Amino acid sequence: MTSTVIAPPPAATVAVAGTDAVFPVRRIFCVGRNYAAHAREMGGDPSKEAPFFFCKPADAVVPSGAVLPYPQATKDLHHEVELVLALKGGGTDLTVEQAAETLYGIGVGVDLTRRDLQAEAKKAGRPWDMAKGFDRSAPLAPLLPLTAPLDQVVPPSSRIRLSVNGSVRQDGGLDEMILSPLEIIAHLSQVVELAAGDLIFTGTPEGVAALVPGDAVRAEVEGLPVLEFTLV
Ligand code: MN
Repeated sequence: MTSTVIAPPPAATVAVAGTDAVFPVRRIFCVGRNYAAHAREMGGDPSKEAPFFFCKPADAVVPSGAVLPYPQATKDLHHEVELVLALKGGGTDLTVEQAAETLYGIGVGVDLTRRDLQAEAKKAGRPWDMAKGFDRSAPLAPLLPLTAPLDQVVPPSSRIRLSVNGSVRQDGGLDEMILSPLEIIAHLSQVVELAAGDLIFTGTPEGVAALVPGDAVRAEVEGLPVLEFTLV
């Protein structure tokens, strides 16, 4: 066995509801502007845009219950509550039917965003990495393993919500998604070879707004384990 020249970094993992076992994270993909009202609030036209994707590092995941330091290099940290897909398989050019076979489970995540850095990047035509892929930028509730088809576990009528200090900020329906979860997997598999361990954040409904130190965040999708974290 080949030795490593430095100690291997710890593996990024996500808790799984109902078990002590964890889900090992390979990569984190995110889809942009997948709810029409949010696309409009960000200045886009949802009828004209093809889906686009960006990434966070695997070790951006943090568990529910975390106390997070307010991130460095920003004065405008935003919350985006999202349904997250966890893959047990992958491939390229998947059909929607094949995409369904790749799903291990689902969870509630928040795509934390340094909105000021994102605005600068957009203006300059630069990458979003430092706006989206920073340390601890992906709080994620325990995953719910799928024991039935996705649309039975979370029917399209399910609500997706985020509240801060008890006040509701985002309150949408999964039926407002432009691309369904399985369509997102199919589209993404046309640009990368998906694999077991990949997580996909599926976009956020309208109502994104700033967080400040002291805020207690609660994110939920009906039927899934709740995500809570606090900023200090
Ligand atoms: Mn997002």
